[in-house]
Amino acid sequence: MTVRVRYAPSPTGEPHVGNIRAALFNWLYARHRGGRFIVRIEDTDQARLVPGATEAILNGLRWLGLDWDEGPDVGGPYAPYIQSQRLSRYQEAADRLLAEGHAYRCYCSPERLEQVRAEQARRKEPPRYDRHCRDLTDAQRADYAERGVAPVVRLRTPLEGQTAFHDYLRGNIVVDNSTLDDFVLLKSDGFPTYHLANVVDDHLMDISHVMRGDEWLPSTPRHVLLYEALGFAPPVFVHLPLILGTDRTKLSKRHGATSITEYRERGYLAEAMMNFLALLGWAYDEKTELFTRAELIRYFPLERLGKTPAVFNPEKLDWMNGVYIRRLAADDLAARLVPFLERDLPPQVPRPLDATYVAAIVPLIHDRLKRLGEVAELTDFFFLEELAYETRLLLGKDLTADLAGRALETTLPALEGLEPWDAPTLERVIRGLAEDLGMKTGPYFGVLRVAVTGKTAAPPLFQTMAVLGRARTLKRLHDARAALLNVAV
Ligand code: GLU
Repeated sequence: MTVRVRYAPSPTGEPHVGNIRAALFNWLYARHRGGRFIVRIEDTDQARLVPGATEAILNGLRWLGLDWDEGPDVGGPYAPYIQSQRLSRYQEAADRLLAEGHAYRCYCSPERLEQVRAEQARRKEPPRYDRHCRDLTDAQRADYAERGVAPVVRLRTPLEGQTAFHDYLRGNIVVDNSTLDDFVLLKSDGFPTYHLANVVDDHLMDISHVMRGDEWLPSTPRHVLLYEALGFAPPVFVHLPLILGTDRTKLSKRHGATSITEYRERGYLAEAMMNFLALLGWAYDEKTELFTRAELIRYFPLERLGKTPAVFNPEKLDWMNGVYIRRLAADDLAARLVPFLERDLPPQVPRPLDATYVAAIVPLIHDRLKRLGEVAELTDFFFLEELAYETRLLLGKDLTADLAGRALETTLPALEGLEPWDAPTLERVIRGLAEDLGMKTGPYFGVLRVAVTGKTAAPPLFQTMAVLGRARTLKRLHDARAALLNVAV
């Protein structure tokens, strides 16, 4: 069997990480089996469309490095891959179901349906269509048509018996047909519902496996009824376990970022994100966490999918991202950081940035960086002309303004003619000054660190000074000294 799997997003908003996880699993499985990965845009719920959402979803996939063999932009043998461009197929299917008695036209007005729902709510019954139009006579139908009432098409769901199907992960699932209602297939505007369009397309596009989130499991019996009514063979169903937050409730905005775009913007690496998402419902063994893209593809048979809900742990993601960042070559990391710096540095820093200067800074923070989006905050002092000192930071626990000032005054002349201006020389001279001053290196280096960076926690001091250069370093020592004089007065 040729594996043909699809990712079928609805462009109704930002691409949710749970949804992207489904895309990733389909892609991995297709690549593992040498099959085809198809992207299909399910845009039949016109009221919920969000402009730009399709592009955001496709960009999310591209960013992760998921390529598709068939899809809206690349085309393919089953084109078009956008459901709103395939309306005639759904119409034909609905016509066939009507002709064969598997479906019927329903003329109920929204007001009537609302009334039915309200009564059901009062009687504490589950909301469902009361099948008012299921057995209309031809005369009644003609009468509605004459009055210009636009009908919807509903499935004539069997009133008795059971619908059974097999889910690869969940096993056999059986539901009583009495719990299913006569759901809508085609809306009065001629657009199909998700159920009809999804089943028709999975069939027409020869989809072998439907792999999607668990939240679609309740829809599956309806789909199975439709496959039966249309005489189509159903695909293999694989419902992927839910993704939970660390509090074990369904992952949502409350847990922080949920859109893949946001993760990209915060500076997670695509490689790390792919690795992390792959572990949400799949495991190679009990312990291995880090996988390259090639390894994921190699190790992705369906047998390793889990059944239990997966927990999205942001701390683990940060850890993993840090690991991936540390594995990058410094020049690769520098190139990836430039756009983040250009986005986040204060506006007074002139753009474009000097790539050589950025490359000199990167080794100083390489080991500490967890997200690319942290870079401007960690390194802004390298780019700013003036630092705004919080003078209290210049003063340590046992450090008076007087002593701190003296430390700066002693340092300045010693650095003015220093040659060469590099980290080892700076370190040697400054350590010597600590001794001359009779100061412990802790508080002394502390005041210098705040003077040159404006921060108490910063990259290694001497390397920082070396990269900053003599002029900037000296100016800052002066400025810090002046700031201290203001305190003393
Ligand atoms: N359009 C549905 C979604 O937004 C597709 C669900 C499915 O894969 O069947 O996720």
